[in-house]
Amino acid sequence: MVDLLPEPLALWQHVEATARAHFRRAMVQEIRTPLLEVTELFARGIGEATDVVGKEMYTFLDRGERSCTLRPEGTASVVRAALEHGLLSQGPQRLWYSGPMFRYERPQAGRQRQFHQIGLELLGQASPRSDAEAIAIAWDLLQDLGVQGLALEINSLGAPEDRQAYRQALVAWLRQRAEALDPDSRQRIDTNPLRVLDSKVPATQALLADAPTLLEALGLESAARFGQVQALLQELAIPFRLNPRLVRGLDYYSHTAFEITSDQLGAQATVCGGGRYDGLVEQLGGPPTPAIGWALGMERLLLLLSQQQTQPVEASAPQACVLSRGAAAEARALQLARRARSAGLRVELDLTGAAFGKQFRRADRSGARWALVIGEEEAAAGRVRLKDLRGEDPEQLLEAAAAIARIQATQPPAGGGTAKLA
Ligand code: ATP
Ligand code: MG
Repeated sequence: MVDLLPEPLALWQHVEATARAHFRRAMVQEIRTPLLEVTELFARGIGEATDVVGKEMYTFLDRGERSCTLRPEGTASVVRAALEHGLLSQGPQRLWYSGPMFRYERPQAGRQRQFHQIGLELLGQASPRSDAEAIAIAWDLLQDLGVQGLALEINSLGAPEDRQAYRQALVAWLRQRAEALDPDSRQRIDTNPLRVLDSKVPATQALLADAPTLLEALGLESAARFGQVQALLQELAIPFRLNPRLVRGLDYYSHTAFEITSDQLGAQATVCGGGRYDGLVEQLGGPPTPAIGWALGMERLLLLLSQQQTQPVEASAPQACVLSRGAAAEARALQLARRARSAGLRVELDLTGAAFGKQFRRADRSGARWALVIGEEEAAAGRVRLKDLRGEDPEQLLEAAAAIARIQATQPPAGGGTAKLA
């Protein structure tokens, strides 16, 4: 699991703010669910035979002897919460979430045991248009962020009946070639044959080139539906590629499945994955409810953004530094910093009590333009000395309010000030 330190977090915050604004414009509301759920939610929702449930979950007994799991993904929790609070009886829900997920995987670049996702769930929508909208929201968010070199791949997993028929055909085909498969894939023939298609083993991938595909197995209705989704994407000018071998790792998907991948990420190429999961709500005890959603991996997205360095991230240097020395001055300096911050300025307060020379050197290094200085003399006069550290303005002895106003007049405020104390 990874610590996130202040410097890289500037880019995280930029991504989060962009996503938040993007969802707001698309009228998608945020939902936050607990990190911990009863294990059964994932066993039932995701499926026992999946890698996530079978091998990757952090599961333990709590003090009440209940089996709990750190959430490995967001969808099952969002559906549980929507059901528990009766949201679905209020009509279709458009929800997004962000936060940490936990999977016991082999850590490597773009793969951690605690990682972060931003996800979207559209609950209660069945139309091909909702598939296209969900995909467009993901695609446009990544465009907004300036990510380059992305490719959208789509497939249809069909209706459950289509999948059942395909499953049989695939199992028969795989059984004939069991010898040539890698051990993991061989084992999956009986537990989760569709997942064999997703194998990352090159020899298995090569063998699968001739395997029957899901697309060939789609019934007429499913095929027509998939055709509509593709036509809509074409109308939206969102480029895509059909990938008949694309299956999602979790059991609850049907019809449209998609991934957005990058050629810059090596083996961990998928930035965003999603699809339709019409069976899940019912499987978790709710009424039959169509749904589609996706989740994007923050760490992989951040890897891409930091490689591309296209983002102007908001400045973090202070606008002013408050320097003081002597008991009376120091108390006034604390209040001055507070007033300036509440007026919306980014203000660093020097708490060292060091000689002014040292404080000035630190202020210089901080990147601030202004120093607000209170020594014994200024404290006694109830004033503050305003110094332009870049030497363009003459030094002035001012009331606190006037000094703050002078700084505001030269630099746009950082925003977020309450102006209560100003
Ligand atoms: P993969 O095939 O890479 O394991 P997945 O199919 O397990 O992905 P999903 O469950 O669909 O992934 O999660 C959606 C996205 O979350 C992925 O596309 C990826 O960007 C990110 N993600 C998944 N697992 C991890 C992880 N262990 N570390 C970092 N990001 C992850
Ligand atoms: Mg995985």
